[in-house]
Amino acid sequence: MLVYLDNAATTQVCPQAARAALEVMTEEFGNPSSRYAWGGRAAARLREDRQTVADTLGCAPEELFFTSCGTEGDNWAVRGAVRYNRHKGKHIVTTAIEHAAVLEPIRELEEQGYEVTRLRPDRTGHIDPEELSAALRPDTVLVSVMLVNNELGTIQPVKAAAEAIRRTQCPALLHTDAVQGFLKVPFTPRGLGADLVTISGHKVRAPKGIGALYIKKERISKWKPLLPGGGQEGGLRSGTEPTAQIAALAAAVSAWGPQDREKIRAVKDHTADLLSGMEGVELISRGDAPHILALSLTGYPSQPVVRALGDKGICVSSGSACHRGKPSHVFAALGLSPKTLMGVLRVSFAPFTTMEEGEAFVRALGEVRETLVGR
Ligand code: PLP
Repeated sequence: MLVYLDNAATTQVCPQAARAALEVMTEEFGNPSSRYAWGGRAAARLREDRQTVADTLGCAPEELFFTSCGTEGDNWAVRGAVRYNRHKGKHIVTTAIEHAAVLEPIRELEEQGYEVTRLRPDRTGHIDPEELSAALRPDTVLVSVMLVNNELGTIQPVKAAAEAIRRTQCPALLHTDAVQGFLKVPFTPRGLGADLVTISGHKVRAPKGIGALYIKKERISKWKPLLPGGGQEGGLRSGTEPTAQIAALAAAVSAWGPQDREKIRAVKDHTADLLSGMEGVELISRGDAPHILALSLTGYPSQPVVRALGDKGICVSSGSACHRGKPSHVFAALGLSPKTLMGVLRVSFAPFTTMEEGEAFVRALGEVRETLVGR
């Protein structure tokens, strides 16, 4: 038995995406830049797939730049934004709960002389929009605020950030890491007022190795290439397009059904309700987004708990999979007690997760706790 409840780390590729990738790899395998008709077919398929992803995001296909992953999109957005505004100032506003793919390039910029304001969340894992507004200065060149936090599932005030930037007339570009928000919460980059939006395929049932950065049309002419070369992706990210991964991403987003969000939320809520009655379990965040739930088996280190659950065929995470054993900076930022902090678990759901799987997790967690208490 495998109960996979770590869908914020990665998802199982859906059959439609796998089929699309296979088709492009084995049949429509031409290089979109080749001048003969076979290349033209690949280029046409690429145009179609780009349009599909752009439609899902509610943007123009020219505003979408395919990348290899969310980390690449985040790095490009952060570095590109300060380069774009290099004559306007050296102040960056971000949050203490961003993914490392945003925090690390910003830390590098700090070492190079940029001043960074890192906003801290309240106990519920939300950034205060007024604090964000107050942090803006005439020399703020980048505001990077994620749409959905990957460990708590909380939705952050991206639209309020856009309004504050407009109101204060600071030159900042607004970036949002929407890797956990894409398809899970309804949004469009224009609706949010964002200049830059990062998404990643493997969180939405496409394979690993594909992501995209949205760059607002008005910003493109001054935006510098990430990879100069043969001129693919509007000349901003050269390299032969990964047509199979792009086809898979287009197929995966098309496969999301209108009811999927509510289906995911129903299973998560059911699981959270069961957990809320359990002795020794503290619910840290029910998450605003439908797919993420954070809890703590208070007083018991999460790594052995994750392993013990794994032995029972249940996959959950001890916070973010990207932290490899270090205490999570996100949960640390909430000011949790040391006992709560040590026991943090993240459970995350997909459209195919069943109520029974949520129940199996709760049962297994109870058993693991009993074994630990009995020792
Ligand atoms: N941003 C967030 C919020 C994430 O959750 C992740 C992955 O966990 C990333 C960025 C990095 O995405 P990728 O794994 O595609 O590099």
